[in-house]
Amino acid sequence: MSVWAILVAAGRGERLGLDRPKAFASLGDEPLLAEPLRRLDACPWVDAIVLVAPPGWEEPAILLAEEEGCGKVRACVPGGETRSDSVRAGLAEVGDDALVVLVHDAARPLLSDDVVERVLAPLSEGWDGVVPGLPVGDTLKRAAPDGAVQETVSRDGLWAVQTPQAFVAETLRRAHAGGADATDCAGLVEAGGGRVKVVEGDPRLLKVTSASDLDRIASWL
Ligand code: C5P
Repeated sequence: MSVWAILVAAGRGERLGLDRPKAFASLGDEPLLAEPLRRLDACPWVDAIVLVAPPGWEEPAILLAEEEGCGKVRACVPGGETRSDSVRAGLAEVGDDALVVLVHDAARPLLSDDVVERVLAPLSEGWDGVVPGLPVGDTLKRAAPDGAVQETVSRDGLWAVQTPQAFVAETLRRAHAGGADATDCAGLVEAGGGRVKVVEGDPRLLKVTSASDLDRIASWL
């Protein structure tokens, strides 16, 4: 079974307030993108990688992949307006030999082989997609824009979902064919009637959204 990975790195990351896209923010001495790219390339379960770069940053992304010796990178394409558009741009480069496609956010640099293994395993049991997640531990409330609490929402059965997300390649292609938008790929697969399973994620798969996230991840490295 051939496993292709799409690494989506085309987000603008406006909340970081930098003059560069988030994928090129500094994590220690390197651009953020270096860490997840190196880890995906070294992952024994991954055969080939499509890198989705911020528009106009394809060349620095390819150079970085070369510098890191990432031999599994098959293509580097510019991303789109939304995350779903970026995944679609990546999917267009995924080879016909792909049986499974793994989609990972470059903004979650601390990818581990264990979590990749956990999301791949259930696909052979008939699931269409598998996502890593953490059970929600905090109490959840819905509030109005002024902060007035409207209700307390049961956290029973709720998960905060991460990436990498694994899919049967054909299912993911079908889910993205309509051009719809969702905050993750699994949402589109679910909307098409696909069966998606959640497995144990990893707290270290924190997504970089602010400068303090970069500091925290650097301290974990
Ligand atoms: O912004 P968001 O939290 O959805 O970003 C998750 C991942 O999707 C990030 O790695 C980001 O680079 C990527 N993304 C993308 N293209 C976009 C928006 C986000 O590749 N237009």
